Amino acid sequence: MRRLDTDVVVIGGGATGAGVVRDVAMRGYRAVLVDRADLGQGTTGRYHGLLHSGGRYVVSDPHSATECAEENEIITRIQADAVEVTGGLFVVGPGDDLAFADDWVAGAQATGVPFEEISVAQALRREPRLNPGITRAFAVQDASIDGWQLVWGAAKSAMNHGAQVLTYHRVTRVIRDGDQVAGVMCYDEKTRDDVQIDCHFVLNAAGAWAGEIAAMADCHDVQVVPGRGIMIAMNHRLVNTVVNRCIYPSDGDILVPVHTVSIIGTTDIKADDPDRLTIPRDEVQQMLDAGEVLVPGFRQARALHAWAGARPLVKDSRVGAGDTRHMSRGMSILHHDERDGLKGLLTISGGKLTTYRLMAKNIVDAMCDQLGDQRECTTDQESVPRSEGGKNYIITHRLEEREKDRLDDQIICECELMSRRMLIDLIDEQPTASLDDLRRQLRLGMGPCQGGFCSMRATGIALDHERIDIDRASELLRLFLKNRWIGLWPILYGDQVRQTALDNWIFQGTLDIEHLPDSVNEVTI
Ligand SMILES: Cc1cc2nc3c(=O)[nH]c(=O)nc-3n(C[C@H](O)[C@H](O)[C@H](O)COP(=O)(O)OP(=O)(O)OC[C@H]3O[C@@H](n4cnc5c(N)ncnc54)[C@H](O)[C@@H]3O)c2cc1C
Repeated sequence: MRRLDTDVVVIGGGATGAGVVRDVAMRGYRAVLVDRADLGQGTTGRYHGLLHSGGRYVVSDPHSATECAEENEIITRIQADAVEVTGGLFVVGPGDDLAFADDWVAGAQATGVPFEEISVAQALRREPRLNPGITRAFAVQDASIDGWQLVWGAAKSAMNHGAQVLTYHRVTRVIRDGDQVAGVMCYDEKTRDDVQIDCHFVLNAAGAWAGEIAAMADCHDVQVVPGRGIMIAMNHRLVNTVVNRCIYPSDGDILVPVHTVSIIGTTDIKADDPDRLTIPRDEVQQMLDAGEVLVPGFRQARALHAWAGARPLVKDSRVGAGDTRHMSRGMSILHHDERDGLKGLLTISGGKLTTYRLMAKNIVDAMCDQLGDQRECTTDQESVPRSEGGKNYIITHRLEEREKDRLDDQIICECELMSRRMLIDLIDEQPTASLDDLRRQLRLGMGPCQGGFCSMRATGIALDHERIDIDRASELLRLFLKNRWIGLWPILYGDQVRQTALDNWIFQGTLDIEHLPDSVNEVTI
């Protein structure tokens, strides 16, 4: 068993936990972040990709709207390389309730969400594929944000401030010394070791799993309701601006341009278990129909990939237990000293990725209060590594970088312009990473071929780079393809069937993939 000692353990390597560990470290505490898998493999890696302007919540959740508007400005500045400043539109579609648009305007004015009404002609000039039947349009400051860049940016900033980040460390127990937290017990999924981390404080940022973690400290009935939503990536940018329907928040009413694709979403249904999220066919059809309302001819684009995520919603007594669509998106902090008589444990839940920094500030403020040790939050004043220049991400950035100094570097993934050097550098930095871990940071296999060509090349390079042996290489490839398949089968229609048949032929026909060695037991969360 390994043993570590620190001041604060942060549980959960999603946006919230990464923000919390950064804040704790920047206030001068020794901190360790643990996640049972890779960073951003929970809801943060399975969301819609929208840095909210606040517009979505001006009527339904005014407090959240103001928080989003304020955080949008901060995140765009301190995490510039994760944010594409696309701008957003709220459009009143044919048949939408016209009175809602007036409520929306009043709500935006009351909550301080910046907007400008533009003419329908202007909106259509900006987004020519938009439904020409729209009757009003409002421009807002929505943006597109890469959740993995955001999490790694915050985590690397935390490491620069002295924090440790331990991925694939599953928390199995919160250690108590009477009415005081004394540490956490983890299981290292890679080395199969137990790891005890002694500490004075635990900050539980485990998202939809936060109730499970609290129960490990004998704090029961923490009600985090997983609100399942599905999203579908279409094979190109149907729009370059985030497009929202100007209606009360509903299903399939937002289309977000993310890197080379556009994502339609989402649904909102209570799930029983955040580890068992389904992608029902009827919801897929519902999303494609909803896309048609925003962009006529939507179905003619190819659906590339579908996935589901679980919102960590705090149980809301105002609505029914299963009505996750209408539960508040507000954040909530549980003080286990007052609630359960246990000092040194706080749980945070709810909120949105857009407000992750504010959530972190609030929970770390609460920790400082409990410790009687006031230290100021400065996370809004310092950019994370690689965002210092304040240059926001733009869609053509990989082409620009390539033309600058990578012209001789072999391209491994044509869809995403990922080169051999980019892959090797990350393998060197994270030698135990799976292909899926590399995918999240490099976008390997996330374009139109869904890994059909690049995953085999990447496996060969990992093998050739002598980081892994042949058994592990083939197992990692199988695991990668298995995980891609989860998001493919629910959307198999039209051209995607042809692409999948081609990929299947490549892997079965040339590699006999089903019969490759199966010796590595990887974590497949
Ligand atoms: C369908 C959908 C669409 C969304 N779209 C948007 C959007 O466009 N914009 C926006 O701002 N927000 C959006 N959200 C909300 C946003 O994604 C979430 O609020 C946010 O990602 C939650 O982050 P988190 O860090 O709290 O949780 P997570 O990212 O889930 O992190 C929790 C972590 O805890 C870890 N964990 C669990 N158990 C253990 C254990 N035993 N030991 C160690 N670690 C453990 C998990 O592995 C996970 O990584 C969306 C959510 C959904 C579901």
